[in-house]
Amino acid sequence: MDICKRCILPDTFPGITFDTEGVCNHCRNFQGVEVLQGHKKEFEEKFLELADRYRNQGTYDCLMAYSGGKDSTYTLKILRDRYDLRVLALTLDNGFVSEQAFRNMCHVTENLGVDHLIFKPRFDLMKKIFRGAADNDIYSKKTLERASTICTSCIGIVKSFTLKTALEKGIMLIGFGWSPGQAPVQSSVIRTNPALIKATQAAIQGPLSRLAGEEVNPYFLEERHFAHADGFPYNVHPLAFLRYDEDEIVRDISQIGWQMPDDTDSNSTNCLLNAFANDVHIKRFNFHPYVWEIANMVREGVMGREEGYKKIYGAQSPDLLKIAKEKLGLTEG
Ligand SMILES: [Zn+2]
Repeated sequence: MDICKRCILPDTFPGITFDTEGVCNHCRNFQGVEVLQGHKKEFEEKFLELADRYRNQGTYDCLMAYSGGKDSTYTLKILRDRYDLRVLALTLDNGFVSEQAFRNMCHVTENLGVDHLIFKPRFDLMKKIFRGAADNDIYSKKTLERASTICTSCIGIVKSFTLKTALEKGIMLIGFGWSPGQAPVQSSVIRTNPALIKATQAAIQGPLSRLAGEEVNPYFLEERHFAHADGFPYNVHPLAFLRYDEDEIVRDISQIGWQMPDDTDSNSTNCLLNAFANDVHIKRFNFHPYVWEIANMVREGVMGREEGYKKIYGAQSPDLLKIAKEKLGLTEG
């Protein structure tokens, strides 16, 4: 397998080309760190304006999609401490949240003085969804370049349920902990739009209800939610415009009681299903579902190439695969 000499994208990645120096088209098209810094400044200012506009207006200023992982923990801390927002944390328990991640969430929300909602969909439905997502390509090719089918299913529910909750509670800011490689700075402060949400939601809700039935519908927006366009909140993912250094982040959040879990894989600090989701994707498509995200971070200089390489090209932990398969009822014999 050929791998880009600059980032870490492999030749199996859809649409990739390499020049004579072994550098990929995505690296060649990258505008450089200086241009990126300019965008970061612009979007942080945009966010500061919004934070000022919505601070102390309703019950809570911001609803944070909180997984308990390091990035969302750091984002929660920043929203609370640096931007002085009254945040409500919302966690979707997909049945695979690691025990350490639960302890972390408990310590962090308490130490930050943040209220916390945990929503746990029935596991029999989640099991149907994850088993179905492991065997079928239910989303577009473009989606599969960015994440595994299993992750996309789970995140799809998180996004819809979080938006639904924000609409019902009248909260105008929704925080996400996307890493700078997961989502570009240009989308880091963006207003949700009913028509667009309707379309993106249908692309997830359709396949999931075919896998698990109409009982998944309560996780998604209903017709009545689309009626009030004025109440549609802004999505923000501040890590795209802030300084991002994994070691610094881990040090920073350890001060509010977050501990690195030793029961998860190298691409997740909260989910015990991730290794299995990665394994399925790699076997089917021949590239790691996190490679796009990690390659972006390597290219943008927020992660060393060697570190990124290790995260992507190491084997998935057999123990984690076993745990996930057992829980999903996929073990042979
Ligand atoms: Zn590259």
